[in-house]
Amino acid sequence: MKSIKEANVKGKKVFLRADLDVPIKNGKVADDSRLKAALPTIQYLLKKNAKIIICGHLGRPEGKPDKKSSLKPAAERLSKLLNKKIKFVPDCIGLKVKKEASALKEKEILLLENVRFYPEEEKDSETFAKKLAENADVFVHDAFASHRNHSSTHAIAKYLPSYAGLLVEKELGILQKLLQKPKKPFIIILGGAKTGTKIDILSNLPKSTDKVLIGGAMAFTFLKAKGYETGKSLYEPDKIKTAKMLINKLKEKLILPSDFIIQNGKNVNENKFKPEMNGLDIGKETVKEYSAIIKKAKTVFWNGPMGLFEGKKYSGGTKKTALAIAKCKGTTILAGGDTEHAIHMFKLSKKYTHVSTGGGAALNILAGKKISAIEALK
Ligand code: ADP
Ligand code: MG
Repeated sequence: MKSIKEANVKGKKVFLRADLDVPIKNGKVADDSRLKAALPTIQYLLKKNAKIIICGHLGRPEGKPDKKSSLKPAAERLSKLLNKKIKFVPDCIGLKVKKEASALKEKEILLLENVRFYPEEEKDSETFAKKLAENADVFVHDAFASHRNHSSTHAIAKYLPSYAGLLVEKELGILQKLLQKPKKPFIIILGGAKTGTKIDILSNLPKSTDKVLIGGAMAFTFLKAKGYETGKSLYEPDKIKTAKMLINKLKEKLILPSDFIIQNGKNVNENKFKPEMNGLDIGKETVKEYSAIIKKAKTVFWNGPMGLFEGKKYSGGTKKTALAIAKCKGTTILAGGDTEHAIHMFKLSKKYTHVSTGGGAALNILAGKKISAIEALK
């Protein structure tokens, strides 16, 4: 992979794909940690006298312009963080961009409107990638969290000399180091709601993994696979087969919650669910058991909240897990948008070795999978 440090960017127009997918509330950025993570590469490019064109996405505009998903608030916040003017362009391709890009001077910054306002982006369209590339001389990929193959993260690398940004380099470095020789016990904690995209990762875990602790809605797909009643709890019907296979394959490495908090705040054992019950957090015994395992760990990787942490009644499991990991003396690595949101809420963000900006990307690397948007930089 070629690094931005090898690129000659002086006076060049650099198309910088960054992670700008921040939460917006009342037209303002509600959490700017993603933007802060993008700063080192932008500052590096400024120092090297580049002309910077920043591209990113926000939310799920489904391929058409949508005011709610505009990147304008992100441009404003980024400008404050850098203490520097950023010119926001209300499109990402076409004449307007062309005009602004050709007028760019060294150390000036443009920020383009949401690239997902075009349906071609998520289709990894080459024609669209060409249009994005048209206005630049160099491509820098720094959107570690955007690991899928899209035009602005993948196809574009065909049309411009391409380099990895500082964030991508840092993230890859930390995760690869983690995988090489993790200090043991090495514990992986997996939760959240996106069972469909996460469960397959468990079939390819590094051999060095000592235990996998399951929480969140994902736990109920496993309990279903064991034939338990899970009431109204969220689970993934399509993944029961995978869960059955994993139970057989991982054996005692796989640890499932032994109790849960249900909708009325009561604690219920995993084998005592009734049809009207909805498990929304891991229970007291599970918290104790998981915390004890985490305490002894030398390496911890955590992705996915243990429950519906956005609700105060159901945030306890996630908070106590977050605290246990914060207290763990080993290497602690966290990943995932909601996991990150949760630790911000609990004011624990500074307590870990590394908080990755990319949940899906980190999980794929953990499972030894290649990320083709990163391979494209080779
Ligand atoms: P991440 O973004 O950290 O990878 P996910 O996106 O997979 O995590 O899942 C986060 C979401 O999962 C949160 O909104 C949380 O409320 C939800 N969640 C976790 N456990 C449960 C549960 N038992 N029932 C319903 N939702 C849950
Ligand atoms: Mg999420």
